[in-house]
Amino acid sequence: MKKLGFGLMRLPLKSGDGKDIDLEKVKEMVDLFMAHGYTYYDTAYVYHGGFSEVAFRECVVKRYPRDSYTITTKLPLFGKPDRAGMEKIFEESMTRLGVDYIDYYWLHAMGKDNYAHAQKVHAFEYLQELKAAGKIRHIGFSFHDSPELLEQMMTEHPEVEYVQLQLNYLDWEDGWVRAHKCYDVATKFGKPVIVMEPIKGGSLANPPKQAEKILKDYNPDASCASWAIRFAASLPNVMVVLSGMSALWQVEDNVSYMDDFKPLTDEEYEVIAKATENIKFAIPCTACRYCTDGCPMSINIPEVFALYNNLKRDLGRRWQYKDKYKELLKTSGNPDSCIGCEQCMNICPQHLEIPKLLAEASADLV
Ligand code: SF4
Ligand code: SF4
Repeated sequence: MKKLGFGLMRLPLKSGDGKDIDLEKVKEMVDLFMAHGYTYYDTAYVYHGGFSEVAFRECVVKRYPRDSYTITTKLPLFGKPDRAGMEKIFEESMTRLGVDYIDYYWLHAMGKDNYAHAQKVHAFEYLQELKAAGKIRHIGFSFHDSPELLEQMMTEHPEVEYVQLQLNYLDWEDGWVRAHKCYDVATKFGKPVIVMEPIKGGSLANPPKQAEKILKDYNPDASCASWAIRFAASLPNVMVVLSGMSALWQVEDNVSYMDDFKPLTDEEYEVIAKATENIKFAIPCTACRYCTDGCPMSINIPEVFALYNNLKRDLGRRWQYKDKYKELLKTSGNPDSCIGCEQCMNICPQHLEIPKLLAEASADLV
């Protein structure tokens, strides 16, 4: 299988509403992706408020034969569903996707709390039942926690076939994400890795100026995103690298270097190491948007953080980001209205202290 997968979590929108996906644009992107021989798609029950799965049905399932693509979707345990709740979510995913089997079905965003709940409601056993019944083909989980927990999960659940990890060159040796160590655990247990966030929520496609200069000085023709995707794809135990593509030009860029994929050379690894020394983001939000649906004040948390990160690394253009913030507040709840309910913190895979960070961002952006 080619190593590039289509992540369906940041699809192009027709308006500020995350559910308002521009299906015609997605169809163009899908057609180009398929024309280049790529087949792997990744969605989740929660992406785009449930409409990512629907978009996949409309743009792929209704337009391509079933044996020309594979689909991954994920069972969320954030809302602490019991057995009946998990069954309801699975059936809803099947209906939204419009398929009669799912190629890869993952438990979503496993970490300490979600794993405890998975054990309590026998979620792994439920997945095995679905597999035995032919409703899903392969079992796995996406993971956001420590290598120690990953080791424990791999030991307690040898039936798992794959693991999806947050892995990119910035998080490779990061003290909290510890992507390198997690990758080593998966490899030790013989489980292929599917990479999520290879561009760290898009931020490595547009890194700070000094880092961008290092990459461009070495190869002016290579996009910054290509360095990040190739870093992940160069790892031998990586099966697929997911790219959450939002526009046709991103598909064009990705296929331009993944069609005839060449792993990074030793010299290129050194260039990435130098660039990494020059990259620091004020808030390491990956724009996964898990936090947005449940916010009672409708605060567009990832957009606020993205503007804040841009402002912090590009102070010379701070007025531009302040203007954009004013625009954003026309469609988003004001961060100052945050009531500190911590719903967002409980779901954030990056474990960000969101209310505190929103207050900091808002103070600088006004
Ligand atoms: S803590 Fe604030 S930002 Fe988070 S969900 Fe509650 S109101 Fe929204
Ligand atoms: S704040 Fe956390 S949950 Fe929300 S978009 Fe960023 S990384 Fe995702």
